[in-house]
Amino acid sequence: MILDADLKAQLAQYLELMEGDVLLKVSAGSDEASRDMMELMDELASMSSHIKVETAELERTPSFSVNRIGEDTGITFAGVPLGHEFTSLVLALLHVSGRTPKEDQKLMDQAKNLEGEHHFVSYVSLSCQNCPVVVQALNVLSVLNPNVTHTMIDGATFKEEAEANNIMAVPTVFLNGESFGSGRMTLEEILAKLGSTPDASEFENKDPYDVLVVGGGPASASAAIYAARKGIRTGIVSERIGGQVNDTAGIENFISVKRTEGPKFAADLEEHVKDYDIDVMNLQRAKQLERKQDFVDIELENGATLQSKSVILATGARWRQLGVPGEEEFRNKGVAYCPHCDGPMFEGKHVAVIGGGNSGIEAAIDLAGIVKHVTVLEFSPELKADSVLQERLNSLPNTTVVTNAKTTEITGDDNVNGITYIDRESETEQHIELDGVFVQIGLLPNTDWLGNAVERNKFGEIVIDRNGATNVPGVFAAGDCTDDRNKQIIISMGSGANAALNAFDYLIRN
Ligand SMILES: Cc1cc2nc3c(=O)[nH]c(=O)nc-3n(C[C@H](O)[C@H](O)[C@H](O)COP(=O)(O)OP(=O)(O)OC[C@H]3O[C@@H](n4cnc5c(N)ncnc54)[C@H](O)[C@@H]3O)c2cc1C
Repeated sequence: MILDADLKAQLAQYLELMEGDVLLKVSAGSDEASRDMMELMDELASMSSHIKVETAELERTPSFSVNRIGEDTGITFAGVPLGHEFTSLVLALLHVSGRTPKEDQKLMDQAKNLEGEHHFVSYVSLSCQNCPVVVQALNVLSVLNPNVTHTMIDGATFKEEAEANNIMAVPTVFLNGESFGSGRMTLEEILAKLGSTPDASEFENKDPYDVLVVGGGPASASAAIYAARKGIRTGIVSERIGGQVNDTAGIENFISVKRTEGPKFAADLEEHVKDYDIDVMNLQRAKQLERKQDFVDIELENGATLQSKSVILATGARWRQLGVPGEEEFRNKGVAYCPHCDGPMFEGKHVAVIGGGNSGIEAAIDLAGIVKHVTVLEFSPELKADSVLQERLNSLPNTTVVTNAKTTEITGDDNVNGITYIDRESETEQHIELDGVFVQIGLLPNTDWLGNAVERNKFGEIVIDRNGATNVPGVFAAGDCTDDRNKQIIISMGSGANAALNAFDYLIRN
């Protein structure tokens, strides 16, 4: 049985929500994946009278497309969408059957009005958490717009095709045969990338806010919800709702939630924010802060200026880059930053992890279970990770640690083929042949845009007091962008709540 009893029971409930008939056009061969796909097709057809299956000639085998009766939608799954893609299949069935996608109406109108032919192909792995977000967004776009098609390709089933297209990270998306992007992308982000964004004039005539939160991660969500619960006018302006959590795999230390996954956590954050009367301006970057007489002005990169009586800065942090030749050139062609997302693409290969702190050693332990060999390169004479992690690493047979190593270049032709470093002790240049490099050297606060508008420390972190207040009256900060020593979800949420309550207190007193 391709579906276990639990999955089948869940599926049965979802299939009851189908509103009309769906035709699955199937191209199968005699290989094992085709047999699995056919078994899945048969199970689906046996579970709902709305699902019809017929054989067809499609571009790839095994694959199947999900269509309305008499009308192709352009949604195709190449490979067997189990694992994390099973939800994408269920949603495709529901949406093609006529159920309205759970997306903002404005976004769906943008999707419907998108002009031109857009033929997307996405390469995924079934163990990737970010992939379903992209697959589901592109499928929704295909359902809503007859000029859009989308084929999801499981890289493990179509290994040769993935290799021929140099796919070293998933999800990777092509549009009309050209590279479109990689990594997690929501429908809103995809539309923005296609040039379909809300007009900047939409932002111009907004009334001043009581609290305006800049940033879209856990700190921001928590600050905005705490502010909104006080009944005051609250806004969020953010480059990317969810923040770093979008790039996180399992989260097991958000107390009371034993285990969740980053993308799910990010979606839950967004849903919770949407429960409140909060003006969310997503995909917008703040570029300047200025304290004026009555308000703090936040100028956006789109040219609009928002005014608020108080501001909470929650712009978080980003991966620190090595800054060596080859890093940018081979990004997603062997250079990766997220072991949880991209580790499976290096199965059976030799990779390096740069950085011997907690995140580097955690990454090396994780990767050792997938890849052939992991070499950890650490600049200092000793690893900085917690000893429990070091002990675990040392117990693994397929890891090597090189200390005193200054990475100087990531080499490659089409893809990464090695790494060059200086052995700082012998002052000799060394080269290791390998297939991938995971950069794990810490985080940088996203605060450059503030310049001298608020006080920052030598690391660029915003200096705050115990109330989350900065040196500028009415301007508070929370989370990873501040000088709080520990950077964690639960801590950033606590500091977001603290900043919001103190911003409220500030508003009452002023
Ligand atoms: C791979 C990985 C795994 C992790 N695992 C865990 C874990 O298991 N448990 C845990 O507790 N923590 C974990 N963390 C840390 C945790 O994700 C962070 O501590 C937390 O997300 C910080 O939240 P934040 O809201 O302060 O910032 P962020 O999450 O960084 O969010 C900041 C947001 O602000 C936006 N922004 C930046 N500049 C601007 C601008 N100028 N204008 C508008 N918006 C802007 C960014 O795009 C982003 O959306 C992990 C982090 C990573 C990268």
